Order: sequence, then structure tokens, then C-alpha cells
Amino acid sequence: MPAAMIDGKAIAEEFRARIGVGVADLKTTHNLTPGLAVVLVGEDPASQVYVRNKGVATKAAGMASFEYRLDKDVSEADLIAQVTALNKDDDVHGILVQFPVPPQITQQTIIETISPSKDVDGLNPVNAGRLASRLDALTPCTPQGSVMLAKQTLGNLEGLHAVIVGRSNLVGKPVAQLLLQENCTVTMAHSRTRDLADLCRTADILVAAVGIPEMVKADWVKPGACVIDVGINRIDAPERGEGKTRLVGDVDFEAVAEIAGHITPVPGGVGPMTIACLLKNTLDAACVQAGLDKINL
Ligand code: NAD
Repeated sequence: MPAAMIDGKAIAEEFRARIGVGVADLKTTHNLTPGLAVVLVGEDPASQVYVRNKGVATKAAGMASFEYRLDKDVSEADLIAQVTALNKDDDVHGILVQFPVPPQITQQTIIETISPSKDVDGLNPVNAGRLASRLDALTPCTPQGSVMLAKQTLGNLEGLHAVIVGRSNLVGKPVAQLLLQENCTVTMAHSRTRDLADLCRTADILVAAVGIPEMVKADWVKPGACVIDVGINRIDAPERGEGKTRLVGDVDFEAVAEIAGHITPVPGGVGPMTIACLLKNTLDAACVQAGLDKINL
């Protein structure tokens, strides 16, 4: 495997340790403890795991963690009331509603109910617009983590051609904005893009955020490119026993690792960075709400 593996787990651990120091500083100097509220609607097993992990990581960083579990049949009005109460709660600096939500609730309505100053997922259109305008903003966590990995790996990204496959508000679009801020030349590809493989082969940085298991093949990749795989897909793994599954990314890891210069694994690449960036956003939100400068980590 000629490609060097980008160890997102180790980079995220080191980042979380620095965040912990920042949180401790804030307590000592301003008697302020950042607080993150996570709201879970229903009992989706994957969402329960995500929420539990977020709570554990929040406490490990020295922050306050608040969890709200609402019945799967809760009305949109009741969820809006819960979020509105959290908007007004001074102990809560960040609010995250775990998506997806059940069909009686419109996700976008909830996104727009969260106060932009507490929107640690960075999905409120105010934050998305500010990011696109190069203004200070709370920025979606997975894109932040993805770009951090590229920067830590390659250093200065100026002038590199980045191709992003996927144009969601959650991942593709904010990754594009962040890479533009790093002075990359950015191309966005999506389900209607023509000659996708040819386009990907022109990328110095290739970001896959599609949700199709192992879609990006070795002959889509320029030799030496930096490949950031955002995808998390669960597939059957009969080789591990009957009914077993495993996680794979959007990149055919084994084959692409023979061609790329650097590559993120799944799991252990972008995934761990997401929670670390959520903690960073909560710390930033606490500072800004208290009228303080953000802590330079
Ligand atoms: P999404 O479904 O909202 O968006 C997928 C994008 O892929 C769309 O813009 C679509 O145009 C594009 N697409 C679909 N089919 C395509 C094709 N054949 N060719 C080219 N483009 C195509 O998904 P999302 O929320 O952006 O998530 C993408 C992936 O990232 C998923 O696997 C998701 O699980 C994963 N994800 C991981 C993290 C993390 O923490 N690592 C966080 C969020 C999402």
C-alpha cells in the first residue's frame, strides 16, 4: 500500500485534548463551562449510539452535557418548544438535534428554529450564508474535520485542485467553501456530473461524500492524490459470519490505497474528527456568547 494512511483517530484525540485544555482555561479565567444540549427524537439505534458518544465526549472535554429524549410521536410544535427553551437557556451554548427526525417533523424547520449563535451543527442558513460570505460562522463539523485532515497532511493547500463528489448542505457544499478559503481551485461533482471518473482523476484532493459504498475506484484517482473519504456505509460481511456487517466508505480503500499518496480509512478517518469539531464549535459558541475572543487552540 504506497499511500500513507491519514490517522483521523489520532489527530482527533490530540485535538480533543487541546480542546479540553481550552475548556479548563475558560473555567479558570471566566468561571464559564461550555454546555452542549443534544436532542434525540425516537429510538433509532444508530442515532442512540451517536447521541451517547457525543455525551461521553462532551463530558470528557470538561463541558456540561444535556440530553433530551423525546418520543418518536412528538409533534413538531413540541419539538420547536423544546428547542426554543434551549435557545433561552444560559447554561446551553450549543444545540444539536440528532437527524433524521420522524416524518411528522420538517427537518429544515427545526434547523431554522435553532438560534444561529447556538447552531453547533452549522446548518442554519444564517451560518451557511456567513460561511459562503467568508464571515465568522459556526461551520458544519464533518467538513471542518475533513479539511483539517487535508491541511495536516499536505500543509498549504493553495492552488491545489480539489474535487468534491456530493453537494449536500451537510457535507459537500461546506467542504467546498472551506477549501475555497484555503485557496484551492474547487470543482463540485454530483449525481448529474458527466465523466465523473475523468474529472476525479484531475484532483489533487479528492473528497468523496456520496453515500454509495466503495464507489470511487482506483482508476478514478490521480497517482499521489490525497483522498478524503467521508462516506460511512454499512454493508453485509458474510465472510465474518452469518448476518454480520461492516463499515466501508465511498472509496474502494484497498485498491485506491495503491494509487493515492494519502488516504483516510473508514472507520478511523473523518468520523472521529466530526465529534472533535462539535466540541470545538461548542467551545467557540460559549466564548462568543460570553463576549470573549475564541480560544486559539
Ligand atoms: P446526501 O445523500 O445528502 O448527499 C449525497 C450527495 O451525493 C448528493 O449531493 C448527490 O448529488 C451525490 N450523489 C449521489 N449519487 C451520486 C453519484 N452516482 N455520483 C455522484 N454523486 C452522487 O449525503 P450526505 O449527508 O452528504 O452524506 C454523504 C456520505 O457521508 C454518507 O455516506 C454519510 O453517511 C456520510 N457522512 C459521514 C459523516 C462523518 O461523520 N464521517 C457525517 C455526515 C455524513
